[in-house]
Formats: sequence, structure tokens, C-alpha cells
Amino acid sequence: MARINDNYLKLQAGYLFPEISRRISEFTQANPEASVIRLGIGDVTKPLVPAVLKAFHEGVDEMSSGATFHGYGPEQGYDWLSQIIIDKAYKPLGVDLKTSEMFISDGSKCDSSNILDIFDLSNKVAIGDPVYPVYNDTNVMVGRSGQMNDAGYYEGLVYMPCTEENGFNPDFPTEKVDLIYLCFPNNPTGTVATREQLKGWVDYAIGNDAVILFDAAYEAFITDPDIPHSIYEIEGARRCAIEFRSFSKTAGFTGVRCGLTIVPEELLGTTIEGEKYSFNKLWNRRQCTKFNGVSYPVQKAAAAVYSDEGWTQVQEIIDYYMENARVIREGLSAAGIECFGGINAPYIWLKTPEGMTSWDFFDKLLNDCFIVGTPGSGFGPSGEGYFRLSAFGERKNVETAVLRIKEKWGK
Ligand SMILES: *Cc1c(COP(=O)(O)O)cnc(C)c1O
Repeated sequence: MARINDNYLKLQAGYLFPEISRRISEFTQANPEASVIRLGIGDVTKPLVPAVLKAFHEGVDEMSSGATFHGYGPEQGYDWLSQIIIDKAYKPLGVDLKTSEMFISDGSKCDSSNILDIFDLSNKVAIGDPVYPVYNDTNVMVGRSGQMNDAGYYEGLVYMPCTEENGFNPDFPTEKVDLIYLCFPNNPTGTVATREQLKGWVDYAIGNDAVILFDAAYEAFITDPDIPHSIYEIEGARRCAIEFRSFSKTAGFTGVRCGLTIVPEELLGTTIEGEKYSFNKLWNRRQCTKFNGVSYPVQKAAAAVYSDEGWTQVQEIIDYYMENARVIREGLSAAGIECFGGINAPYIWLKTPEGMTSWDFFDKLLNDCFIVGTPGSGFGPSGEGYFRLSAFGERKNVETAVLRIKEKWGK
């Protein structure tokens, strides 16, 4: 019989979201009348904007005639899309990129996982705690870790606690690492890194020959003009960082699928013989072999996000979600609940009242207020005692949820 990849058995069996669903259905069966409000989801709720839909339809129509049909496109994405993104999203930040450094993909969950293909297994990896589970689990899957220990950490991976004390911007790893995952604005904590903090990371990476894997999936939600949107706004980052972006949260593409990865030409690693080699070349080779590009209509739709009309429409939806975030943040604060995030990100990371555990607070919120959120402990041991609420909902529901919380805790 063929051997399985035993590394998969080291993973905790997808515990968080199935357990949430189980508790919700148990509750709704016992309380069929209760109007449950879900603020736990990490998915957008608003439909695609008109300008994007129009381009999407046009792309599909072009596929109907021999003269305008598109077969396989470039594995790296169409140059016209990369050029639009460079011109509209990067140049205004003072960042100049070549289209050969940009790789269009079907999303950044895949990219931030697949990127491990081009790094040797011997590399030491550092990740945040709490963290977007993908970084952790994909490293376990490829065999970079041992078993999970009692503390909830996988042996062999380096964890960087993100706590109230360090402002949820982790301290540098205490041992030598080769790869550092950073996600700003952060999921789940909703916090951001300042220019000085990012410069600290870039200097650290250069000084320690490490590569930063920078997940900027939520950059479009930054409202503070002083917060960088791209790691390449920091001098030196082209020599030490790969950046992931996604149309998922920015433009409602979670079900459409489009993202991108930047691998600068200056980013080098070493071969087994100790010679320098370009990660851009490796990623290009990887994509050409294992990926056949994003569908033509989807790339047309993605380009329309950056049209004047498209950008205005997309920005309106982002503003809508960020107003939800403000309502949640201010409402909870008024009820005496300590909140983080929610200013430059669509997530509010709250400290559970009365020192409750994350799961106890989950149960209390569900039973007393009929509200669903996400227990912080599900994102890692340092998430214990915290709770994530998402701003991707309907305003009315958000307002009702806040009223219920104020009634319960705001005494
Ligand atoms: C939602 C999300 C993404 C985007 O994933 P896609 O595959 O592009 O939909 C990436 N990183 C984080 C941290 C996210 O929360």
C-alpha cells in the first residue's frame, strides 16, 4: 500500500470552525426563536460592484467568439493586469516594480502556502501567535515540524507571541530564523505595523539573512495615512521580502478568486554549494510547472477594480465595512470591553470581560446575546482570553449586536 504523508496526522483536526458550527446548531435547536447574529465570519457579504461585474461579463462574452476567445494565458498573469496594479496600487506608494516581479494567482491562501515549494526544508520558520492558521498548518504539512506540544506549539517552528504588552507587533525571534511570516493589517488581531516597526523588521531580516513573507490581504482597509500598505515602502525590502495581496477582501473576490505575489529580482537565497540564486526565477519556474494562470474573465474583472468607477465603488464598500468596525469598536468600548484593531482592519480583537476564557465568552455571547464570534484561542495559545468580531456584516445586524452587548455588559 502507498504510504500517506504522516505529517498531516500531526495537524489538529480542523477544530475551530466545526466546533463553532456545532455549538451554534445546538443552541438554535434549543432556541429556535432566537435571532442569531453572526459576527464570526472572515468572508465578505457585499456583492461585486457594477464596474467589476460589467468587465467580468464582457470577459465571458469574449470567450464566445473565435476572434476574441482566450485559451491558456501566461502562467504569471496577463501583463496588462500586472501593469495596471503597478501603476494604480504601487506607484502611488512610491514603489516601482516590474511586471516580471508580479505573479497573478487564484488567491493568497494558495500563494502563501505554495511559496514553501521554493524554500529548503532546513529553513527555520517564525510565525506569529495568534496567527492565520494557514502559515502554521502548511509548514506542518511539508514536514518542517514535529508534533504539537502541550503548550499548543509545534516542535521545530518558532512562535512570536503577539500580546497586549508588545502592541500585537511581535518581538524579534530569540533564535536564528530564515523565514518570517508577517501579516499587517493583521488577521485576527486587526492591528497594524507602523513604518518604524516595519523598518525594524526589514533591518532585522537583512541583518539576519532572513526572508519576510508579508501578507497584505487587508491593506485596502488601512485608513491611517501614515501606515504603509506595502512592505516595499520600506528601504531594503526588495532584498528581503515577498509580498502577497488579494482581491478577496479588497473587492469581494472571495468566490471569484484572484490574488498576486511579488517576488523582487534582488531577493536572493543560497544553493547547497553556497552560491546565490534568485527566488524570482524559482517562483516563476514553480508557477510555470504547477499553475496555468487565472481565468481571462477573472483577470478582466480584477483590472476593473482599478478603473476610476470600479475603485470608487469598491472604496464605498470598504468604507461601509469600516463604519461597521467603528460601530462595534465604539459600542464595545462604551460597554467597558477593551478592544484592539478595527481602525485599519475589518477585525476587532477584544479582551474577554471578567477574565473569561475565549470559549466561555463564546458561550456567554451566544446564550445571552445571540451573537456569534470567533474565540481567540482558536488562532493560537496567545489568543486565549481574546475574541474576534468581524465587520463584514449588515449594518443593522451590527447595530443590534452592539445594543445587545451594551445591555449585557454596559452597566
Ligand atoms: C482572507 C485572507 C487571505 C486571502 O485569501 P484568498 O485566498 O486570497 O481568498 C489571505 N491572508 C489572510 C490573513 C486572510 O485572512
